[in-house]
Amino acid sequence: MKIISDKNKLTKIVYNETNLGFVPTMGTIHNGHISLIKRCKNECKKIIVSIYINKPQFNRKSDFKKYPRNLRSDISKLKKLKVDILYLPITRQIYSNGPDKKIKINSFEKKLCGQNRPGHFKAVVDIINRFIKIIYPKKIYLGNKDMQQLILIKDFVKENYPKIKIIGCKTIREKNGVALSSRNYLLSLKEKKVASMVYNILKNKKNMLIKNKISFDKIKKIITKIGVNKIDYIKVLDINKIIKPYKKEKRFKIFIAYNLRSTRLIDNF
Ligand code: AMP
Repeated sequence: MKIISDKNKLTKIVYNETNLGFVPTMGTIHNGHISLIKRCKNECKKIIVSIYINKPQFNRKSDFKKYPRNLRSDISKLKKLKVDILYLPITRQIYSNGPDKKIKINSFEKKLCGQNRPGHFKAVVDIINRFIKIIYPKKIYLGNKDMQQLILIKDFVKENYPKIKIIGCKTIREKNGVALSSRNYLLSLKEKKVASMVYNILKNKKNMLIKNKISFDKIKKIITKIGVNKIDYIKVLDINKIIKPYKKEKRFKIFIAYNLRSTRLIDNF
């Protein structure tokens, strides 16, 4: 596995690749990332993984500071997976003129997480746009776990880079239902149990919520009682009606964002 930080060197190396798959991550590699990497390996000739904790997409400095970092063990996991290139970007090369706050993305950015995290999705799309210009992959693999992010990146790439395909990959979960996330490392055992209960309650009540047989207020009360500190939102959306062209058939998903102490978790299913 080649480990590259210099963007010009990287561009030169991948320039002639015709079937390059890209998996962008913020590191602390877990089985969710690994499932993306394995799918990418199956479908592409060469695979590049990036690890970069993109500061502009964090709304709070403290959240950026405490984000888990495990580069050494990440490198050994990626080597075992036979990743061709690990890209470890250098901030001053990536943002020589600062982030692009005026980048145009779909207005869906304002919904769900956008309500509590102003500018977050613009910063996410901005960094992906910068990576595309350096790597120009054929396919980019992203997790359904971050569905709003996936929808916004897909829309942006379709508009700006029609030849690049965005592949959404299924969410990998613990046995107790909790979606794997690097942020789970910040949770205590008790908090992990609460996260599992949140998932199971919502999963069981999903149909009732869709059919309006239980109110969102009631669900929020139940979830608050089991130890959730703050609920940013619980919403049911038909994901086929978010971004045009709409599809006829309905596909409802529950979206949730909540805090366990200061750790913010999101999920959808
Ligand atoms: P992150 O390192 O959290 O930025 O995630 C990098 C990529 O892995 C994103 O496309 C995520 O959506 C995806 N991902 C994160 N957690 C999971 C999971 N549990 N299952 C599948 N994909 C995931």
